[in-house]
Amino acid sequence: MSEEANPFESLQSQIDEAATYLDIGDDVIERLKHPERVLETNLTIERDDGDLERFKAFRSQFNGDRGPYKGGIRYHPQVSRDEVKALSGWMTYKTAIVDIPLGGGKGGIVINPDDYSEAELERLTRSFAKELRPMIGEDRDVPAPDVNTGQREMNWIKDTYETLENTTEPGVITGKALDSGGSEGRVEATGRSTVLAAREAFDYLDKDLEGATVAVQGYGNAGWIAAKLIDRMGATVVAASDSSGGIYNPDGFDPVGAKQHKNETGSVVGYSESEEEITNDEVLTLDVDLLIPAALENAVDEDLAKDVKADVISEAANGPLTPAADDVLEGKDVFVIPDILANAGGVTVSYFEWVQNRQRFSWSEERVNDELETVIVDAFDALVEAYEENDLENPRTAAYVVAIQRVADAFEEAGSWP
Ligand code: NAD
Repeated sequence: MSEEANPFESLQSQIDEAATYLDIGDDVIERLKHPERVLETNLTIERDDGDLERFKAFRSQFNGDRGPYKGGIRYHPQVSRDEVKALSGWMTYKTAIVDIPLGGGKGGIVINPDDYSEAELERLTRSFAKELRPMIGEDRDVPAPDVNTGQREMNWIKDTYETLENTTEPGVITGKALDSGGSEGRVEATGRSTVLAAREAFDYLDKDLEGATVAVQGYGNAGWIAAKLIDRMGATVVAASDSSGGIYNPDGFDPVGAKQHKNETGSVVGYSESEEEITNDEVLTLDVDLLIPAALENAVDEDLAKDVKADVISEAANGPLTPAADDVLEGKDVFVIPDILANAGGVTVSYFEWVQNRQRFSWSEERVNDELETVIVDAFDALVEAYEENDLENPRTAAYVVAIQRVADAFEEAGSWP
């Protein structure tokens, strides 16, 4: 992974690039390039051995012009202020491209959760929830899971918030377990939108998905579900990786078996249907029809991009390509479905969860998946329209053109305030 690209600078250059095609003043664009506010806080909790330990944590509220701030909470040693700011910006344009009435936010704690017990993580999560309480709420800011957080952490945050507020407000957070007010289809939603967007792209490019070869980098929630669903659509998953390395079989393997192996051993490496162990970089540069980066940002830098051989990339991860890598791939005519559309399934079903919480009424999984498909197909169509109408160089710029226009319209329609 490249250390060079600062994700916040990547976000800003993506906005600048799209702004050249938009009739929006520089002053408004400047506003849309920065978060409205960022909480930086220090959480101190008691370890199981009685010692105290301090952790740095952030919450960035990037833009609320289209609705409450929305975005996940990440637990990772590489969490930084700039990373959280960038991720919150991407959320703003993600909710806009899929046209759901939410803004963008993101949070994180600098921690390697593997080094802590469940009880320690619960104390830390509740401490963060206490700190977040004044700024979150179903009409203010609605967090969700991200890397290394899931239903368990969301349930703790909901419980802490509701206890302190003396209320029931399940819509304060999404990605909850079903019994705690979660939605059917939420766990699979990000991988589902990644493959729905890939299906639309193959259709647009007149390429056959049946029998297409696929490599998946990162085999967590987003990556493994994408692998499972694309396999069901008739494509062949030939490679996958996680932080321990990659596996490869040119004839394909069963993605569900690979996940079971990872559950049992901690990694996809060593899976019996793999023919060869390969490195993470090799997974990213295989000669496949579709590449799904589903790990962290900056996975593909300028140098690696020169070796990428995939025809289509569907970005399950946020920011997996550096801007310099984007330029290289554009020159090679690789069709990149941008993260803000490809992985928008997570936030879209989070939105459905929030709607259900407010309605106090649960939808069936079938309804959730149908509504998600409609949202992703509509967003892809809007992207293609902007791509063709403006004769744009790449689909990412097209997505930003649509999304920035929607946010700018909401900002300008609101009028001015001292
Ligand atoms: P996760 O923690 O479930 O999985 C991450 C996976 O990436 C793990 O398998 C890990 O081993 C692997 N990984 C880490 N470093 C790697 C490396 N250098 N090379 C290869 N693999 C590596 O996280 P997730 O929820 O699947 O999120 C993955 C990406 O998708 C992130 O960028 C996240 O922001 C994005 N995303 C997730 C959701 C969601 O709903 N889960 C929604 C939108 C976007």
